[in-house]
Amino acid sequence: MRRDFLLTASCALVLLAACGTSTTGRGEAGTFRPTTPATSPATAATTPGTSAAPSTTRASSTHPASSSHPRTSTPPVTTVTVPPTPALPTIAPGTATVVLNPGHNGGNGSHPDEINRQVPAGYGERKACDTTGTTTNAGYPEHAFNWDLALRIRTLLQSHGVRVILTRPNDTGVGPCVDERAAIGNASGVSAVVSLHADGAPSSGHGFHVNQDSRRPDGATATVARQSNALGAAIHDSLASSSGLVPSTYIGHDGYYYRDDLAGLNLARRPATFLELGNMRNAGDAALQSSATGRERIARAVTAGILAYLGR
Ligand code: ZN
Repeated sequence: MRRDFLLTASCALVLLAACGTSTTGRGEAGTFRPTTPATSPATAATTPGTSAAPSTTRASSTHPASSSHPRTSTPPVTTVTVPPTPALPTIAPGTATVVLNPGHNGGNGSHPDEINRQVPAGYGERKACDTTGTTTNAGYPEHAFNWDLALRIRTLLQSHGVRVILTRPNDTGVGPCVDERAAIGNASGVSAVVSLHADGAPSSGHGFHVNQDSRRPDGATATVARQSNALGAAIHDSLASSSGLVPSTYIGHDGYYYRDDLAGLNLARRPATFLELGNMRNAGDAALQSSATGRERIARAVTAGILAYLGR
């Protein structure tokens, strides 16, 4: 998996056509896009979690020296234009509050009675309090991924003057239940609610998807429903351009999936979106999710999307 990651990251430094083999979808499935993050250009092209990371700081016309990708006398490489990182909108400090809802919790698996009890899920429906989430094939749990991302996004948002509330205080507890999480997001003054998850789908599929409620959330106004879709779209676009994940190849359409069975969306009275940030069963997505650099990249993309929504 690590070797695959190194190879993929290396390939992203040159024209994808030179290394990529995918011919499906958007033609760049499973590869890193050579973009630069907002404040740390080195993370775009370095290889996470290893001291052998290439020193290249951005995609360029040259292919990095690599034993796995030796240069030839006629390298099929042309100049890659790195798009400038869009300026993040400035939010006046104290004017926006964002609720981050990292899915699941580290104690859920050992407390089945608590998390299986039925709770209100909107529209008079009921569903389990919470679930355990998925893992990568190597055993990296989704709850830990979600928690790590939440902390990274919180730090980034706070640095831009946004007040942040988390729906759970750590990654070792149980729950809270989905209706309790929704209630935290429904507090007055909350500008946006972002649920953070990763999927556990068949390994052949990869990429992120943004869940949008296919019906107006129970009790929400039409305005809030529109705002929820706008929030999801802003984060979708940011993920597509800079997270390293591509729009899902296996569910929904172009990274959007409309559904009516998520309590977090059905119960939302404030603008809310529910993100599946890659498929943990897919080797390429798991490599990104399992590395600190990969998670930082995803966190920056989510943050940029939230700020774009807040600043619109
Ligand atoms: Zn989940």
